[in-house]
Amino acid sequence: MSLQNLWFDPDAYLVGGAWSRAARTLPLEDPSTGQAIGAIARGGPEEVDAAVTAARAALDGAWGRATATERGRLLSRLGRLVEERVEDLAALEAADVGKPLTQARADARALARYMEFYGGAADKLMGETIPYLDGYTVYTLREPHGVTGHIVPWNYPMQIIGRSVGAALAAGNACVLKPAEEACLTALAFARLAEEAGFPPGALNVVPGLGEEAGAALAGHPGIDHISFTGSFEVGGLVQAAAARNVVPVTLELGGKSPQLVFGDADLDRALPFLVNAGIQNAGQTCSASSRILVERSRHDELVERMAARYATLRVGPAQADLDVGPLISARQREIVLGYIGQGVDLETAGRGEIVGNAPGGGHYVAPHLLTGATAGHRLAQDEIFGPVQVVIPFDDEDEAAAIANGTGYGLVASVWSADGGRQMRLARRLRAGQVFLNNYGAGGGVELPFGGVGKSGHGREKGFEALYGFTTLKTVAAWHG
Ligand code: NAD
Repeated sequence: MSLQNLWFDPDAYLVGGAWSRAARTLPLEDPSTGQAIGAIARGGPEEVDAAVTAARAALDGAWGRATATERGRLLSRLGRLVEERVEDLAALEAADVGKPLTQARADARALARYMEFYGGAADKLMGETIPYLDGYTVYTLREPHGVTGHIVPWNYPMQIIGRSVGAALAAGNACVLKPAEEACLTALAFARLAEEAGFPPGALNVVPGLGEEAGAALAGHPGIDHISFTGSFEVGGLVQAAAARNVVPVTLELGGKSPQLVFGDADLDRALPFLVNAGIQNAGQTCSASSRILVERSRHDELVERMAARYATLRVGPAQADLDVGPLISARQREIVLGYIGQGVDLETAGRGEIVGNAPGGGHYVAPHLLTGATAGHRLAQDEIFGPVQVVIPFDDEDEAAAIANGTGYGLVASVWSADGGRQMRLARRLRAGQVFLNNYGAGGGVELPFGGVGKSGHGREKGFEALYGFTTLKTVAAWHG
């Protein structure tokens, strides 16, 4: 795709309603071909500082004075503009992330849906009255934090911007968004549509750039009142440490090693598409990818055989060809994933997808791998691989299944496949995860569903109504009137 004649400037940043060309740029690559397709702005501490100042000014100006209903209407209008541009946004994401068009389209629709959801929720965020001593009336106010920083990864830019910036704006914050250096086109496109929707200058500012430059500057900026970070465990720790120096609250959405537990009484016909799709969606580069399939020993061979049959049909190729799986984001990510597959020499490759013959040579393609024979402690059953690799591990009973499921330090998503209602309820409580699905699995799905992790998967919740609490601070007002 050409970056000429787009409806926004791909190499600009947005501060206080003004689009400026950055003095420095970074190359942008199409993962399907490995070819450079343009350049993006390389913002740094200076641009971040200007963005924080502009956001603060917006809070002191028109944006700070907007009522909750007005904020909701702006978000709803933005949602409709996104909906009108679904095809354009999907094409951008396909070129930028390498995401097959159908998956990119689903992300664009999710972005519109987040705007619709938070547009509707903005004026339904309420405080409480609290019974207290005689002669008092006490109530609480939900107030915006102020200036919120949003550091977003490359794997689901539109969905993550939707859930984090959407909720923050609904609650009345002014946002500074730092998209990932590997994929920031839809962030810029979204900001352009926000202008068109009528958001006042400075309500949303966007500074693309490197993580260690623009990202670190944002995380450590003393003018920020809250940081929402989505990305790796390692960088999450750095962001939390930087924010801690200014005693700024942080929401961390980190990685996972999410298990699906398949019991002997499971309906495999229903489970099968969920088991496979949750591993290969976005080429496995999904925080809530299900990279571990735990199966009761009595059904192990049958499950592996059926999953392997599905794997044999998986086709990998360029995003625009819209096959089952696209390329990985970069040559580096491909190397990491192939390195992991190489460490599985003691495992059996029970199933394998195929890279189509006409896939461009420079693209970052990896054939999906279904691996068996791993113990729960095997490196491939412990590390977040972030590629199209699933490991099948047998278990003998419910206790062992729960112990394996909870045994990685991560805790983002889990699912239980079983016809036994009591077992479903027991495991829903027992599994250490932010979301548990019973007889289904939603990798990243559900605008309405609070989402986030425990342990190495992070803390705080985004999505759903719960996110609005995270993007507000609670004030208690105690009035004595005698
Ligand atoms: P990453 O942590 O390298 O980068 C994420 C973002 O942080 C990017 O915008 C990057 O520029 C920025 N960044 C990098 N170094 C920084 C620094 N020193 N200070 C501040 N910001 C910095 O992660 P990634 O490789 O882009 O994404 C993959 C990881 O993200 C995986 O671990 C995945 O599981 C996780 N992820 C989690 C969720 C979730 O919701 N839990 C969603 C998507 C991805």
